[in-house]
Amino acid sequence: MATFGVGDGHYFPDLGRVFLGGGKMSIVVENLTVSYQSRPAVHHVNMEFPDGCMYAIFGPNGAGKSTLLKAIMGLLRCSTGGVHWQGLGRQELAYLPQQSDVDRSQPMTVFELAAMGLWYEIGFFGNVNAAQRERVQAALKRVEMGDFAERAISELSNGQFQRVLLARMLVQNAKFLLLDEPFNAVDTKTTYALLDVLRQENQAGKAVVAVLHDYEQVRAYFPNTLLIAREKVACGKTEDVLCDELLLRANNLAQAAEDSEWCE
Ligand code: ADP
Ligand code: MG
Repeated sequence: MATFGVGDGHYFPDLGRVFLGGGKMSIVVENLTVSYQSRPAVHHVNMEFPDGCMYAIFGPNGAGKSTLLKAIMGLLRCSTGGVHWQGLGRQELAYLPQQSDVDRSQPMTVFELAAMGLWYEIGFFGNVNAAQRERVQAALKRVEMGDFAERAISELSNGQFQRVLLARMLVQNAKFLLLDEPFNAVDTKTTYALLDVLRQENQAGKAVVAVLHDYEQVRAYFPNTLLIAREKVACGKTEDVLCDELLLRANNLAQAAEDSEWCE
């Protein structure tokens, strides 16, 4: 089990792949607090994302959704608690950050960007073999970018670029796909096409955990939702979680969090 949390000195979990008895896989968030300059953005959150789940993360602006995903990925230091990748190695978590990690002005083709999903297999300078090339092409085809492989990424629309980033995730073939508002500035047609791809991935056994702000998309595609407003408000079946009462509570908590300055 890769575990990391308070007092580790470094906050990247080890890169080894460790299986517990029975091979159970999940992401466990335990009493997690993450602060920026001692101001908590995520506050004592407990949560488990099981293998094969399809979970939306929902909450007001500034609720700590991006912070939670970054902490899950080991990119932020935890002030209390921690995250456990049960039965999972780093390569089994694919992450699409809210702000893309890719500079779109750099000279790179669509194929090269999607092939970055092979990083765990071949490293930065490895050669792509014929079978891997096929996989990259197949992933591009699934997001309807099969005819754009040689196009420069600087020449893509927002929707096309997001399609290629999803292809990169598909190429990685991770067990857990974590996405942070992947459809911002993306047209409706592309959004639903990519939601369909995520659903197919889930039906093929992958866990999908996505921060989304569109209520209808969550209701249509995600059976389960975690509602957060710095702290966990509720989690479980989407139809139960996204009710007026809990959404109001989330908004009130977010407001109260803005007014408070410190964490005990
Ligand atoms: P969400 O994704 O739900 O909109 P974030 O996780 O981005 O929320 O941010 C949660 C809170 O933490 C916000 O109040 C935000 O201003 C603050 N925050 C986020 N990133 C930083 C940072 N790098 N430095 C300081 N404060 C930050
Ligand atoms: Mg965010």
